[in-house]
Amino acid sequence: MQSLLGKVAVVTGGARGIGRGIALCLAQEGANIVVNDLRAVDSRGVVLEIEQMAQLALAFEADVSDRGQVTALYEAALSHFGRLDIIVANAAISIREPVLDANWQNVLRTLEVSQFGVFHTCQLGAQQLVKQGKGGKILIVSSILAEIPMPTSAAYNMAKAAISHLGRTMAAELACHRINVNIIAPGHIDTPGERQFASEEQLQQASQNIPWGRLGTAHAIGRAVAYLASEDADYITGTTLVVDGGYRMGMRLPSD
Ligand code: NAD
Repeated sequence: MQSLLGKVAVVTGGARGIGRGIALCLAQEGANIVVNDLRAVDSRGVVLEIEQMAQLALAFEADVSDRGQVTALYEAALSHFGRLDIIVANAAISIREPVLDANWQNVLRTLEVSQFGVFHTCQLGAQQLVKQGKGGKILIVSSILAEIPMPTSAAYNMAKAAISHLGRTMAAELACHRINVNIIAPGHIDTPGERQFASEEQLQQASQNIPWGRLGTAHAIGRAVAYLASEDADYITGTTLVVDGGYRMGMRLPSD
């Protein structure tokens, strides 16, 4: 049986990568999806894939760093589907540069999208869930870099630490409304975004540092989110689910 039959989910940054994986997994479980991204045209492929699963989907263009646009995103979700059940704050960017040389505009833009954008998505979505009075699920896509200080990634690492703590704080405040707020911490996942920073050879090399022996998939993150969005996870709130193939254990595979 599909665990999310008839639920309505909003997924930010859903046009590609992990967001796409999440949107498809939620749809597979029977949810109807609002696929948000910077350009609606980029979300059309995902919308088509969801429609092929016989679920409904809407592409909605919004920059999550703009509160007005996030408000419009929820207005569109409500006028199209009439309700909201699941919010996935996934959209983020990373501009990699060492702290000593970091350009302030780049730092600010990373925080605007990856931290404040998640705040807007979660706060404005939670207000609607409270108004509906029937609980709901909020999932925040953070990263293992919320805890691991990967060099050249200070602004992103700061944003991820902040949104993980936002999630725990919201979980404490919203438990009385029966709204679960949980955090997903992906490890190294093979996505278009990640391929901007690394060649095929570098990704193969990176796999050697992961106990599971390969990078993760967007589907694996999608399945984790689908579980946390389901009734099976009703008593889970304020926690972080790490999906990293053992990356944080810091092991290397034995060489052949
Ligand atoms: P990606 O770059 O492949 O996809 C991100 C999507 O978000 C893109 O479609 C992009 O257009 C969209 N987006 C960017 N800025 C936006 C904005 N302001 N408003 C709306 N949409 C916006 O990235 P990904 O690797 O799939 O990452 C998705 C999430 O997973 C991010 O939160 C990222 O930090 C997190 N994450 C990724 C990895 C990894 O290894 N790929 C690891 C840990 C965490």
